[in-house]
Amino acid sequence: MSRSSTKKREQVALFAAAILVAIGGIIYELILGAAASYLVGDSILSFSLATGVTLFGMGIGSLLVNYIKLHPATSFATNEIILGLIGGNSVMLMYLGFVFTRSHWLIFAVISLAIGICIGLEIPLLMKMFQEFGRKSSVKLFSKILALDYFGALIASLLFPLVMLPYLGLMRSAYLVAALNIGVAVLILKQMKASKIMMTISVIATMLLLGFFIYATEIEHGIDKRTYKDPVMWQQQTPYQKIVLTRYKNDTRLFLNRNLQFSSLDEARYHETLSTSALSSVANPKRVLIMGGGDGLLARDVLKYPSVEHITLVDIDEVMTNLAKTNHLLTDINQRSLHDPRVSIVNQDAFQFAFSTKDKYDVVLIDLVDPSNEKLAKLYSEQLYRQIGNILTERGVMVTQATSSFFSPHAFYMVANTVKSSHPERYVTAFSVNVPSFGEWGFVMSAPQAEVVASQPLPKNLRYQNQKLLTFLTKQNAISVPSGPTSTLVSPRITDVYNSDMRQWRYTNSF
Ligand code: SAM
Repeated sequence: MSRSSTKKREQVALFAAAILVAIGGIIYELILGAAASYLVGDSILSFSLATGVTLFGMGIGSLLVNYIKLHPATSFATNEIILGLIGGNSVMLMYLGFVFTRSHWLIFAVISLAIGICIGLEIPLLMKMFQEFGRKSSVKLFSKILALDYFGALIASLLFPLVMLPYLGLMRSAYLVAALNIGVAVLILKQMKASKIMMTISVIATMLLLGFFIYATEIEHGIDKRTYKDPVMWQQQTPYQKIVLTRYKNDTRLFLNRNLQFSSLDEARYHETLSTSALSSVANPKRVLIMGGGDGLLARDVLKYPSVEHITLVDIDEVMTNLAKTNHLLTDINQRSLHDPRVSIVNQDAFQFAFSTKDKYDVVLIDLVDPSNEKLAKLYSEQLYRQIGNILTERGVMVTQATSSFFSPHAFYMVANTVKSSHPERYVTAFSVNVPSFGEWGFVMSAPQAEVVASQPLPKNLRYQNQKLLTFLTKQNAISVPSGPTSTLVSPRITDVYNSDMRQWRYTNSF
């Protein structure tokens, strides 16, 4: 083969490497940020830390290159193998760190730093290799490599959220990118006719990572089995959340992103209080909107009101509502509520639905996850509550779950003040009920006036609530809320307030 065509091939290999390392670099940053926000909930902190620490590591890596004396191709390939092994196992290591230690943030920082250092070495080592091939390092060459690096970044930032995360999940995506890293190393080594040892190491590392890629789900399930006290009966990472169902004797529990959503032993306290407080404050309620409630338990209790003609249940996660329709662990508890002809399921973001629906509702019930990250803050915002007031009928009543009045009192008060500020003309009351499996739980009601609260008879076959108790909870025992700041789309305070409340508690996440 002529010298020039070999040179050509070498150049192509290096430029391909430039694109591939760019894609890998960005995707690792996104994976680290996503893994941290899944595990600890605070996505802005997670993504800023992932980016900041990785970039800092890249700075260190670019300086280190001057101390590397190995042949450029060997050092580049070695760097890719190290990056692949750390990056590939990053999600598993963070998972294990979160589940079995209290130093998950430290583990997260060390992994981000190590990945950053390896990424920071990549471009300078590529430049050294081009020199090795007789290309003078020039601004022109450097700008070409940087341009490829940035184009690769665009591909990565589209690939990750649209393809890898929904179809592969976090752990598999990390192993796939790692295999890509080592694939680049093999490409370079082959081109350089590098030593057999290096080739063998790269091939072994690639096989190892592909093995992890194939068994990633089993690995994740294995970790989960050790995480939850009770046997894990079902689990799936959806594009929105990690759903886990556990079962111990007759205690079925649902977890979303590791947060307990209900225990079958005492969920009636929560769902019956949420449903009856609203539905028994409207005479003959007909049309009901449930935001969230994808487990079907709230719908079960709303269906007990004979006057209810139609329930619209808006839940973002189709996997969740399908699970609640098909898995017997849920259908045994929700009494197949989501199959009832009066229930129509809309798999959409509840915030968007509120602003797009043309219907009016006698009752709006908000049974959404707690506002643990910025994505969820809008579901506890003044703008949403104001819009809900606009889609309620004249006599309409809204009740929202408002986090724990005991574990997160400041968040609970903020929800009440935000509801109040959204429609100052309406009557707002806050109350709570004890749910042993997840503590004293708060609710906030917005009604046309005080007289309607708990004014209507309760349906039959309730397991917990009754007229006397409901009146006591919503009137005599109503919680007086100190005035305070509200949460809006522009300043989503609720997330910080909620997370700072919850940081005081260590055992609320116990599984
Ligand atoms: N009882 C629980 C509590 O008190 O936290 C809530 C349970 S319910 C299962 C929470 C539901 O909110 C889930 O099914 C989840 O899919 C849904 N959800 C989360 N974000 C949403 C959004 N933006 N729009 C609609 N549903 C959402």
